[in-house]
Amino acid sequence: MGTPPQSRAYAKREREELKISLKKFQCLKCGSCCKASHISLLPHELTILKRLAEKLRTRLEVGFDYTVYDKRSNSRIVLTYYMMLNDDNTCPFLTDDNLCSIHYIYKPLVCRAFPYVPSEVRYFYNPYTKTVFHKTEFAISYACPVIRRNKALFMSEDESSKKRSAIFLSEQLKAAREFEEQRTRYVQALSYLWKIGLVDLEFKSQRNGPVVNAYTFIRQFIPYFVFRKL
Ligand code: SF4
Ligand code: SF4
Repeated sequence: MGTPPQSRAYAKREREELKISLKKFQCLKCGSCCKASHISLLPHELTILKRLAEKLRTRLEVGFDYTVYDKRSNSRIVLTYYMMLNDDNTCPFLTDDNLCSIHYIYKPLVCRAFPYVPSEVRYFYNPYTKTVFHKTEFAISYACPVIRRNKALFMSEDESSKKRSAIFLSEQLKAAREFEEQRTRYVQALSYLWKIGLVDLEFKSQRNGPVVNAYTFIRQFIPYFVFRKL
């Protein structure tokens, strides 16, 4: 007796999925991710990029996404920056050949994590326990042609699909996790300073004060607050 058509279809699908799951993400160097939208940076990454921009004579303009107000120093501490795109909607570090000029020196974590993109970043605080924490959701970006070509891998929300995409994008997932671990270090350091009374934080504050980079700010009190590659 032959195999029923339904089973054959199932087996075929499994073979296809296995083929996909054995593949690894191969960047096509199309540069689309360097033209998609502004580039999110952690405070110490801005310090690194400023130095590189000076060295490479690149114009770097940034804005800030998340700040927290400190009543003690009357300052707004920046937790996340974003690097603005040039007028032609390209990253200032993108070369004419669509390559990243800082790839081998310091590539920002958000770029290393792409096509994983932080789709939602939220900071919370508890004034009673003097604790700051955050929650970030990551999504897979269809702005990347490799993702569009392999969309069968990402279409369903089931566990096996998640596992396959985690294998396919293992390097990028590692970078996304590192990004969040580093973000966690900031909120932990600020919680510590709050608990010992060196800062008095207020979120959602409309107050204006001088803006300070969280990395520089924290290091005034905790000089060993450092990151690799700085
Ligand atoms: S830093 Fe490099 S990888 Fe990141 S957006 Fe700019 S050119 Fe692209
Ligand atoms: S969009 Fe995707 S394929 Fe294109 S450069 Fe970025 S990561 Fe590579």
